[in-house]
Order: sequence, then structure tokens, then C-alpha cells
Amino acid sequence: MRIAMISEHASPLAELGGVDAGGQNLHVADLSTALADLGHEVRIYTRRDAEDQPVAQPMGDGVSVVNVPAGPARYVPKDLLLPHMKEFGDWVGEHWRDDNWQPDVTHAHFWMSGLAAIAASRPIGVPVVQTFHALGSVKRRHQGAMDTSPRLRIGYERAIGGAVDRVVAQCQDEVRELIRLGVPRTRISLIPSGVDAERFTPDGPAQTRDPDRPVILSVGRMVERKGFADVIRAMRVVPNAECVIVGGPPGAELGRDPVAKGLQALAAECDVANRVRLVGAVPREDMPRWYRSADVLASAAWYEPFGLTPLEAMACGVPVVASAVGGMLDTVVDGLTGTLVSPRDPRALGKALRRLVDDRVRRLAYGTAALDRARSCYSWKRAATQLSSVYASLCRLRRPTGAVA
Ligand code: UDP
Repeated sequence: MRIAMISEHASPLAELGGVDAGGQNLHVADLSTALADLGHEVRIYTRRDAEDQPVAQPMGDGVSVVNVPAGPARYVPKDLLLPHMKEFGDWVGEHWRDDNWQPDVTHAHFWMSGLAAIAASRPIGVPVVQTFHALGSVKRRHQGAMDTSPRLRIGYERAIGGAVDRVVAQCQDEVRELIRLGVPRTRISLIPSGVDAERFTPDGPAQTRDPDRPVILSVGRMVERKGFADVIRAMRVVPNAECVIVGGPPGAELGRDPVAKGLQALAAECDVANRVRLVGAVPREDMPRWYRSADVLASAAWYEPFGLTPLEAMACGVPVVASAVGGMLDTVVDGLTGTLVSPRDPRALGKALRRLVDDRVRRLAYGTAALDRARSCYSWKRAATQLSSVYASLCRLRRPTGAVA
């Protein structure tokens, strides 16, 4: 089958850890590879954000990336990309015509990609699948006035949910949110992300560390909702342990980054500065080394549409202490593979971390169960196989050219 993935702001080839480059980039890359492994041909359309990017770039067997010229050829924050989506969709449609290549199905990632996907696919009758990755309604609920998303985002998401042929949710919590948004349950498929169990393994090289000091690792884009500040505050009740934070700008730029500087100041205020280390962005191929060097992963997100990081830690046999939100409610089994705590509660987080840090046997038991759960329930092959069935069922029901739902 020919599959067009649309991922407007998140290129599968981007460096991760920056404000707008994280889970979606990796999801699109790994999912596309897994689909190609099943024999599909995948083209990923993402916005061209550097002058030196060619239009087409091979990514692997059966997968290529198309850098779409829409808006300036430089980084533009994703919240400012909406005005370029029409140009994006029109370009993709023309490219299919000029190249004499038409997908059997288009799969859009993030709401704005949905707009481009519908514009390019609907006139030629190609079915559209939508994965939101994050929902504006959830963001608005948690971030309120700090939410910089376009004002019309929630309305657009409702319209996209009603227009596409299938919406893929990544966790139970998202299914509930989508139903609240008005998407009929029959049009929602629950297909969680996977984890690359060949790369993320307990055995292999690990980052050097002090063997006498427990290491609590936290990983993510350096944005407030990832809860790094709560992890730092929690360190007050976890004496002796070291907190390592991976993500954000490259290490050499941390000193100039306002968010990183704020976290460092907070650590000093909490009197834990000598036990908090900010590493900056780590290339994705080095991530397993960091997980392997940790005793516990702390994922203190205020909300989390899915959360690949906890799953990667689990695949490395590391127990997880996570906020009881979003995808972590499904991936982390409280009392079996880790501990779930209320979000934005540094005391509860600290107590849960301390309990695990102080209990080697429990850590081992949780780590073993976490590894087993990641491997058995969250492979990319499973996700790709389930998606293939969804794609196939939609192709069978393909609308006549030009028909609108
Ligand atoms: N990541 C990385 N280098 C970094 C920080 C993060 O490779 O310096 C990766 C991390 O391993 C994970 C992804 O970025 O695969 C973050 O995904 P997650 O779902 O946890 O968060 P999101 O970015 O989607 O909010």
C-alpha cells in the first residue's frame, strides 16, 4: 500500500529535545519504518525549515521524506504555522499530480497536518486518518492563558474529527477526550505508540555515573508542562540522590537558555543545586545509555498525550514514577511497573521517588515487570499491523473522487 504521512512541524529527521521536536518526530519515524517493514511504501511530508534541505530525502528502505516548501525555509514555532497550511496542502496535492504518485491512504499527525491532508486528499477520494498527538482542549484546560495555540484550534480539531475517515487515539484518556470533542466512538481506533525494543534494551553501554548515589532521570522537551520544576522541588525529600535532566537546547547553550536558567535558579532556591544536573539535548541514538544509567525515571508532566519517554525507560528495565495523566495511566501500572502520583504535587512525587530509591528489591521487581510490559504490549510492529488493518478497511470503503463526508 502507498501511505502518505503528513507531519507539518515534526520532521522524522530532526534533532530532538527542542521546544517543538520530541515524541511526534520519533513516532512518525518509527511508525513509518515499521510500516515499510510490513511491505508498505511510505512518504513523509514535513515542512521545509532550512534552506539547504532538498525536496526529497531517503530515510530508509521503503521510506522517504519530502520537505514541503510552505512558509519561510527556517524554523517557525508550530503555533505560527496555521497560515501556511493551505499552501502546504496545495503543494502536496500538486506534487502527487506532477510526480504521478497517489497514496492509497493519507495519515495526518497533529491537527494542522489534518487540514493539509484533507485539502490534498479529499478532491481525489483518498481516505484520511488522523492522529492528534495532543488536543487543544486539553492544552487549554491545563495552560489557560499561557496557551499560545491559535485561537481557533479547538474548533478546527472538532471539524477535523468530523471530516476524517478515522481518528487514531493513543490511550484511553484520549478516547474520552475525542468523544467529548464529538468524534463518534465507531470512528476512533485505539492504537498506542510503540517503543523500539531493539534500541531500548537493559543491556548495553551506559552513561558513567557515581555508583554510590542513586540517579533519578527526567527526559523531555524543556517546556513547563513537562514538570521538570516539580522534579527539582521533589528532590528536597529525596536526600542523597542525583537528578539528571535530559532535553532542551544543546548542552553548550544551556547557560543562555531562560528556561534552563530558571530551573537552575529553582534548584539553588531548593538547596539541591549540587544534586541537579542539566544535560541538554541528547541525540536519539544515545538515549538508551542515559536510561540505563538511571535507577528511576521521573515523568512529572502536568498532562501527557502519550509519553514515549516512560515507555523507553521501561524497555531499558527502569521503573517509572509518573504523573497519573494521559498515556501514563495505560503504560505505567501502579504498584507493578512503577508508581503513579497526582500531577503538580512535588511532595507526593518526592515520597514516591524516595520509596523506590530506598528499596532496591522493589526497584528490581518493578524494572523487570516494566521491561516485560514494554516488550509484550508496545512494539512498533504491533502498532503498524493494527494500522495496516485500519488503512485496508478504509481503502475498501473508498469514496468516489471528490465526495465529501
Ligand atoms: N528525546 C531525545 N533527546 C532529548 C530529549 C528527548 O531523543 O534530548 C526523545 C525521547 O527519547 C523521546 C522523545 O524525544 O523519544 C520525547 O517524546 P515524549 O512522548 O516523551 O514527549 P513529547 O516530546 O512528545 O511531548
